Amino acid sequence: MGWRWFQKGMLFLCMPCAAWAGDAAVRVTPLPSAPVLAAGHVAASASGASSVALRAWLHAPHTRTAWYELRLAEDWRAASRPLLSVHGNVRARVTAYLPPDYRPRSDTVFDATLDPTFSHDSVVYALPAGLRATQPIYLGLGDPGQTQPIRVAITDLAGYRAGDLQHIRVSTFFTSVQFSMVLVILCFWVVLRDRMFVYFIIYVGAQVVYGMTASGELFALPGAALLSPLGYHPGQCMAALAAAFSIWFILAFADLRRYTPRLAKWLAALRWPFLALALIVWLPPLRPDVWLPNTVNLLLVMSTFLALASSWLAWRRGNRQAGFFLLSWVPLLALTMARVVQLIAGLPLPAWLEYGFPGSMAYAAVIITVGLADRTLQVRRERDAATHMAQFDPLTGVFNRRAIMERLRNAWQATMAGPEPLAVLFLDIDRFKQINDSRGHAAGDACLAAVVEAIRAELGEADRVGRYGGEEFLIMLKDGSARMAVRVAERIVARAATLRVAAGDDLIALTVSIGVAVRDAGVASVAALVEYADAAQYRAKSEGRNRVAVWQREAFVAATVR
Ligand code: GH3
Ligand code: MG
Ligand code: MG
Repeated sequence: MGWRWFQKGMLFLCMPCAAWAGDAAVRVTPLPSAPVLAAGHVAASASGASSVALRAWLHAPHTRTAWYELRLAEDWRAASRPLLSVHGNVRARVTAYLPPDYRPRSDTVFDATLDPTFSHDSVVYALPAGLRATQPIYLGLGDPGQTQPIRVAITDLAGYRAGDLQHIRVSTFFTSVQFSMVLVILCFWVVLRDRMFVYFIIYVGAQVVYGMTASGELFALPGAALLSPLGYHPGQCMAALAAAFSIWFILAFADLRRYTPRLAKWLAALRWPFLALALIVWLPPLRPDVWLPNTVNLLLVMSTFLALASSWLAWRRGNRQAGFFLLSWVPLLALTMARVVQLIAGLPLPAWLEYGFPGSMAYAAVIITVGLADRTLQVRRERDAATHMAQFDPLTGVFNRRAIMERLRNAWQATMAGPEPLAVLFLDIDRFKQINDSRGHAAGDACLAAVVEAIRAELGEADRVGRYGGEEFLIMLKDGSARMAVRVAERIVARAATLRVAAGDDLIALTVSIGVAVRDAGVASVAALVEYADAAQYRAKSEGRNRVAVWQREAFVAATVR
């Protein structure tokens, strides 16, 4: 979510405590209006040595420009020349009158014309090497302004460069991590086409673009200078989009509508104001600069609370993904707490806290990607279980009717062209109704399982067995010549007759009858082959049960003619 906005909001709340912690070495004087520069104001000459970093926190209003006069407490004496940096997510316009010529300059971090030898982390101006305490610097901040205070510092160039490089390393690393996760999920989406991946890509992608707009780095990319006139609007739009799609994502990812329907309804409703704000950003007559950041902050506080509460509940109710989400947000929340404490106590902002936010967003993107992978695994497991259930008979563990018929059809197709024989055995348990009636249904079930074991014991690797109906089984013998098929059937009949199935204190004996049919030129289809095997099985029954009967064309023809 657009955490920096949230962070900004917190900062705004606590600003009175932190905004005016100026450094004594630089004197800041707020001016009532823009300075009027008299001719001959310039008085610059080099001297001295001092390299203390001089800092002040300044304020940039929304509707006008606030003017400040900055003066060094003593002359600049360091070997490296001084540099004025204006830092702190600066989206405000910076207007500067600088020695020695006091020509007005006006910049924002969104301008592609900034000095390309520095990052866009700050607006930076080189100052004359011998800057004196008597030479004022006039700085105008605001219009557009910002709620977050702006840190103004006069530092030595060499030190600033080292810090700037470090900033680039750290922020590039975090941005790359987030960007990589977006790419990984994009690859997932290309293959799996799950809509949730799209939510993640927009949510984290918008967060990356927001971060790069806020830091100005987006405008330093080749070709992105075209975006400069849009200023921070793309950033605001992206923050609102990131917030809206993070809600879309968490709703789908943690299945919140199912696990916490009521909270999910409220959370889902918050997507629309975020989307509306993403549009309103582009409508200057509505003056979004003034009211939009705090509105977004308020909505963010509400949606964060709802997302955390419903994820917590969903996690307690057994949703693993909600757990991943909570885990991914822990550092973000901890950092927000730390930031609030830092601001309330008026402490300086340490680097770990400043970079903690992009760092924790990168961490969150990684954890959620792991969560997405975990979810994909779960979906695959559920699909496997469903496929298994759709194919196997739960009582005996063999194929169900549909699955064995499909196997038969496949084998039929595969052996169609060649001479390989294909045989079907139709097995029916003899007088099974009696077993059920006298020993109970459970005993009948045990007999079914025992018969399946007997069948399996006689089958080869490539052979298949399926439950065709109540106590009827279909056995497919691949590479089964008529002689082989009859032999296997006889072995099954013999083995079944030796079974003794435990039912209470009793042992149940049973027998089976099998009809055999082998495909030959006269068999037109799989259905016909099964029908012939069934017909042969009937003959086995009529001939006294506990035996094998083979379907023969002549007998069948004779029977149908009669
Ligand atoms: P026949 O020798 O002629 O085949 O006699 P039979 O009693 O086996 O005849 P029939 O095919 O009519 O009986 C099948 C019985 O199988 C009827 C039904 O109660 C029983 N049955 C079907 N499915 C199940 C099941 O899943 N479990 C149990 N225990 N019995 C079942
Ligand atoms: Mg039957
Ligand atoms: Mg039967």
